[in-house]
Amino acid sequence: MKKTVSFAKNSVNLFFHILTTCNLSCRHCYINPSQHGRNTLSIKTIENWLTLFADKAQKANVIFLGGEPTLHPDLALAVKKAGQLGYASITIDTNGYLFNNILHKIKPVEIDYISFSLDGATEHTNDLIRGKGSYKKCIAGIKQAAALGFNTSLIYTVSQANLHELEKMIPLVSDLKIERFFIQVIGLRGNLAMPKPLNSNQGSMAQVGADLWLKIIPEVATAAARLGIRVTYPKVYLKPDELFECAGLVAKNYFVFPNGRVYRCPICEDYPIHSLGIVDNKLSKSPKINEMDLFGLKIPQGCVMNKIIQPDNLPPEGKTGEQYKIACCLLKEEIF
Ligand code: SF4
Ligand code: SF4
Repeated sequence: MKKTVSFAKNSVNLFFHILTTCNLSCRHCYINPSQHGRNTLSIKTIENWLTLFADKAQKANVIFLGGEPTLHPDLALAVKKAGQLGYASITIDTNGYLFNNILHKIKPVEIDYISFSLDGATEHTNDLIRGKGSYKKCIAGIKQAAALGFNTSLIYTVSQANLHELEKMIPLVSDLKIERFFIQVIGLRGNLAMPKPLNSNQGSMAQVGADLWLKIIPEVATAAARLGIRVTYPKVYLKPDELFECAGLVAKNYFVFPNGRVYRCPICEDYPIHSLGIVDNKLSKSPKINEMDLFGLKIPQGCVMNKIIQPDNLPPEGKTGEQYKIACCLLKEEIF
């Protein structure tokens, strides 16, 4: 079954960056400490901020992120607090190093998914992007989590550097008994948003064009779904007659950073245009002009922030000459 996952309009999704420190230096890392801070939130602050968003609606989902969230010594306490507050689902996104013995401090019943990141089906490709040793460590982490009874998912961020290995991920994901496979599109954020003379990564890590994306990604996703894997991938390109919607206007996603910035759109994260902020454990609106003032600007090309922030990133025209709109980066297709 294939369906477009419209934005969950009745739920709250909290993407909670509890620190920005990481043991890896991935070439495409989107963390930008000059914008997101370098501090590690105390467990007390994490609990207070979890309470802020749990109060917004019954159906809140939380994804603990970093940096590498398992570097936080109190992550297990944060997971337990989210459970007590009634979060609808709890996920930890990890690079697989699983620090602080996290798998032995939480129980599978306390968490919905541990989500791992791998950017190559082979050690060679993955480690070129994510750093030497990261492939073996991630695979070992997935196996360990599965053996202890945790549900696992996997995120593969597609760029021109690893598209050729996407198909090879299917047997790997199947063998590792991973329940959910998230194919992600690379974005020009963090490291990749740096000016070109400073950043030699940009060329090889560029985004895959419309023709290839629209052909290969659904093919691979469908093949994986045949093996019983639930696959989610972003639409990225919309045909002219497809409906464009901005999640910043119609959904409740909060991207929270340890310096208190709260964004509604991940593309905006390299700029101080967050629409909300947390000060003294209270959530308040940011002064104008912020991202919310821009979401409503209607342009024929679709996503306005893509046009403003990443104009070179997504060519609106495929090689065949077909024109595309740029979909909201949060609009996903799901196959299972
Ligand atoms: S694991 Fe995540 S936070 Fe760490 S360097 Fe890689 S992309 Fe950045
Ligand atoms: S990616 Fe574009 S469409 Fe989606 S929330 Fe951001 S501005 Fe809106």
